Amino acid sequence: MSNSRSTKTVAIDFDSVLADTMIVWTDEYNKKRHTNITKNEITAWDIGKTLPIWPDEISEIFNKVWQNRWQNVPPTEPMQSQTIKRIHSMGYRISIITKRERSTVTHVAKWLDYHDIYCDELVFVYDNTPKAEYPFDILIDDAPVNLIDIVFPRVGILFSQPWNRDFNWPIRVNTLKEVEEKILST
Ligand SMILES: [Mg+2]
Repeated sequence: MSNSRSTKTVAIDFDSVLADTMIVWTDEYNKKRHTNITKNEITAWDIGKTLPIWPDEISEIFNKVWQNRWQNVPPTEPMQSQTIKRIHSMGYRISIITKRERSTVTHVAKWLDYHDIYCDELVFVYDNTPKAEYPFDILIDDAPVNLIDIVFPRVGILFSQPWNRDFNWPIRVNTLKEVEEKILST
């Protein structure tokens, strides 16, 4: 049997790390409300602090984006597929972990195929189990709440987005390419 414990797992969050979901989310919001909000204007993790919207409607738009417009959701960066394949060929196991409602699960799988995103496992979280409880060595996430419980020797990498600019975290990146070149290659 191979010694799987020597293989490090890089866990990658899905929404707003792989898929730039909020680009289409704000577009749906604008259509509904006749507004002209952009992703860059969402400067708080809690969208309800930036826009006059209730949590139920936030999820409703989110689910609608994934069910009806998943093909419009762009990757967060160019050449994402190749970058992830290179990280895998450096010897890392790729885990994609995403908390969401079951109704959007099939669309996530389709998006990953459509964009040719490699992974060794795809984890869907339906309950409130914190991501820090899942087995990984490195987590890349845009949500501060998912990073705060990660302690050495595990590593939490903050994926920069407009809603986490005020969060003070030692490792912040703008792209997965940066993770590959500045963190995993050293
Ligand atoms: Mg996210």
